Amino acid sequence: MTNRIEHPIRIGIVGYGNLGKGVETGLTLHPDMELIGVFTRRNPEDVPSKSPVYRMTDLEQMKDRIDVLVLCGGSATDIPEQAPELQKDFTTVNAYDNHAEIPAHFDIINEVALQNNNVGVIATGWDPGLFSLNRLVAEAVLPKGDTYTFWGSGVSQGHSDAIRRIEGVKLGTQYTIPNETLIEDIKEGKEVAYTKTSSHKRVCYVVAETDADQAAIVESIKTMKDYFVGYETEVHFIDEDEYEKNHTGMPHGGRVIRRGYTDEETMAVYEFGLELGSNPQFTAAVSIAYARAAHRLYQEGNYGAKTVFDIAPAYLSPKTGAELRKELL
Ligand code: NDP
Repeated sequence: MTNRIEHPIRIGIVGYGNLGKGVETGLTLHPDMELIGVFTRRNPEDVPSKSPVYRMTDLEQMKDRIDVLVLCGGSATDIPEQAPELQKDFTTVNAYDNHAEIPAHFDIINEVALQNNNVGVIATGWDPGLFSLNRLVAEAVLPKGDTYTFWGSGVSQGHSDAIRRIEGVKLGTQYTIPNETLIEDIKEGKEVAYTKTSSHKRVCYVVAETDADQAAIVESIKTMKDYFVGYETEVHFIDEDEYEKNHTGMPHGGRVIRRGYTDEETMAVYEFGLELGSNPQFTAAVSIAYARAAHRLYQEGNYGAKTVFDIAPAYLSPKTGAELRKELL
């Protein structure tokens, strides 16, 4: 691995939503990095950031002032559009989480990055990201066994959006809660029936419009295909004050568990867990560490697209290889 990077790594943030804000905040904890600016599709005056805010079109002339762009757009449409274009001129990092499309996204970014001699780290964050990495390590170490992923407790943005679209719902948040009994059974070595629906419960907090039919809202939630059908689902009606006080945060987390065997019968449980006060801030924190890695790879001339699987852990750290070797104990 390379030695310490001498100048601060100059970062640009593309897109100022939850993730973009998280990167802006997170960078203040990294003395080896410097935020050059936030780049947005909106009028910069409409973006509530205290950092310098520029238009996307300003990026072209700021190429030489930025080492890594952290792409913070949405995975549905922003990243597929923006990432290949920006990759022509920049080393980039993204938290693309469209699982089915990641292999194709890798190929696109790899081609552009190799043509332009830069680095594109894709699908950082925690799932995909740190969860993927831990599943890989657990399965490499324990080839005989089964892997289980549990999400939560935490807010699912997709499910919360879905309940807010129901007639009569003013505000709504959905928490995904893992099935703790199932987790204990796995760790104890019991036979389990792990399915998508048996492994999680869905708990909704709803503020209904005055005069709304609460029974109809419950029915609409519980019968919503692909979202709630098959899951144990609870719906709680609360008032707006309670909602604002207790249900506007974005906590999340989860666990990757591999129950494996180191011989015919000796069990080993590998567990990696996250409890996140803020999902976007943590996702941003992971992207920032991978931005450091991206810059190091760039400096070494190791161009192309990379995922968390391709990057050695030492590249994430601001410490030198020599410093890290002293910490192997
Ligand atoms: P947001 O919807 O908050 O932001 C997405 C983009 O929308 C922004 O970059 C911004 O672009 C634009 N935008 C944000 N707020 C406004 C506004 N008020 N008015 C108009 N436009 C706005 O998404 P998140 O930041 O919450 O999430 C980004 C992506 O992160 C998600 O799509 C998800 O895929 C990914 N993610 C990945 C995780 C992982 O573990 N890998 C975990 C969590 C999220 P602009 O400034 O250009 O207008």
